[in-house]
Amino acid sequence: MKKTVVIATGNAHKVEEFNRLAQVFSLPGIRFVSAKEVRAEGMPPVVEDSGSFLGNARLKAHALKQCVPADCFVLADDSGLCVDALHGAPGVETAYYAGPEASAEENRAKLLAALSGVPENARGAHFVCLLLLISPDGTETVFEGTCKGAIATAESGNGGFGYDPVFIPSGFSKTFAEIDGFTKDRLSHRGKAFSALAKFFV
Ligand code: IMP
Repeated sequence: MKKTVVIATGNAHKVEEFNRLAQVFSLPGIRFVSAKEVRAEGMPPVVEDSGSFLGNARLKAHALKQCVPADCFVLADDSGLCVDALHGAPGVETAYYAGPEASAEENRAKLLAALSGVPENARGAHFVCLLLLISPDGTETVFEGTCKGAIATAESGNGGFGYDPVFIPSGFSKTFAEIDGFTKDRLSHRGKAFSALAKFFV
């Protein structure tokens, strides 16, 4: 019987992404479901104010754990972009960099403006993905993935989401938005964290 892992998110796109990664990393015994599929109210509201990726993932995971059947695993993720020339910003503020209601385009525009005049050799950055799993017995396990790269001087590419059009992973000359999803899954922060999660379930 498949193990059920409930994802601590209200974002249906994320559940799809996890199910795709489950195929990429051969996790056939796991079924990822949204909070909405196990409780009518869906993901309980959480104020993500811990100041760290791990703390925010923990807040989301525990909020959901209290409301799902005891035999379910709960998985929360928190991710973001840390830019060297900005002393690690936007970091935990990545999703809201240009304001609480900001679009991905506005966030990218703010980032490019903040790095205006910064030379190519000083535009280093990395994505971080933190996954926190709570097992049915309450044990917490953390999986982390990072992906190093640099911030481009202008946007390029139409694929992906978020900051993909401005992030060039190390060893590539294209942005994440120009790289196919299959390649991105293997080299991204989320892919690496997920690969560690897959080993946990082997
Ligand atoms: P969260 O995982 O929904 O908390 O995402 C935090 C922020 O990081 C959002 O603004 C995302 O767009 C951004 N982000 C996380 N992972 C990626 C990625 O792989 N590509 C581009 N942006 C990302």
